[in-house]
Amino acid sequence: MRFPLSLLGSMSRYMCWQKFFGKPKFPLVLMLEPLHACNLHCSGCGRIREYSDTISKHLSVAECVDSILESGAPIISICGGEPLIYADILELVDCVLRLGKHIYLCTNGQLLESKLSDFCSLAQTNRRVKSRLYWNVHVDGMQRTHDSIVEKCGAFDIAMSGISAAKCAGFLVYTNTTLYKQTNIDELVELAKLLESVGVDGMMLAPGYGYDSVKVSGGENDFFLTRAEICEKFREIRTRLKKFKITATPPFLDFLCGDRTLQCAAWANPTRNVKGWKAPCYLITDKHYETYDQFINSTDWSKIGYGNDPRCENCMMHCGYEPAAVLYANKLTDLIRLAIWQISHW
Ligand code: SF4
Ligand code: SF4
Repeated sequence: MRFPLSLLGSMSRYMCWQKFFGKPKFPLVLMLEPLHACNLHCSGCGRIREYSDTISKHLSVAECVDSILESGAPIISICGGEPLIYADILELVDCVLRLGKHIYLCTNGQLLESKLSDFCSLAQTNRRVKSRLYWNVHVDGMQRTHDSIVEKCGAFDIAMSGISAAKCAGFLVYTNTTLYKQTNIDELVELAKLLESVGVDGMMLAPGYGYDSVKVSGGENDFFLTRAEICEKFREIRTRLKKFKITATPPFLDFLCGDRTLQCAAWANPTRNVKGWKAPCYLITDKHYETYDQFINSTDWSKIGYGNDPRCENCMMHCGYEPAAVLYANKLTDLIRLAIWQISHW
């Protein structure tokens, strides 16, 4: 299985209800950023730059819970910053799981191993910790590449050790790899084999996006891929990583390979952080709204996406297009491909 059945069940029931009530726009995944502080300083990270003026601020657990209830999304991606340096992370995870939600806990893995015993203790009182919490560990390549991108010698080994420990402790563990111009597909194959050997449940591959806050001041932004380059890389990935458990759904992978067009559905992945509800999307910022309703009703969704906004020209990111691939997969052939993809193993 690519994803646990409980996740697919929750998502399917939720989508049926939204469609039954005729809601034109609804969130699938809430990107919850309780803080932007981080224990690493990656070259491709926009957050620590864009939010440098609020880097010491954080949302309280109560504010996080209110935001989750406000949006109603079935999946909560707790990201940041580094969520494992959020002082109340255990309380937050406990509350979110008790709300019946699923959690992607996005981490750079540097504290994963040392925090595992706390999560194991939590699992004794909340059994959903082992079935609805998915660790999502940032790994951008093999040792030399990863350490260079995150600018910390030894970061790869620490993250891998955390991944192995989490798998040994019975957690669901996925990884998240950002692709840049320099990304070498041979190295990705090597990484996929290594992750498979430690039992990782799935590997997410995302094309890096050169949004304003990650552009190198005064320099060329030459490590981000153009749309044509993304398609070229993913065509090779589709062939060479076929036997590995890549988490991109078949319709989304078609899009990444340039074989299908999709309309950005950034409204389905809203971002909530210390400044409010970030619009229009996880990547670019025009405004932060105070409430989810203001965010969804005041943003002009017809003006975003490829062909509508020059900032979207080279974006093929999950936060805009993966929900689009799920929401618009209505054809029988898409549904059959999705079902086969879901039940296929390593
Ligand atoms: S680990 Fe994540 S949040 Fe921290 S600097 Fe790197 S990309 Fe940014
Ligand atoms: S295409 Fe969508 S997700 Fe990408 S930058 Fe534009 S609005 Fe954001």
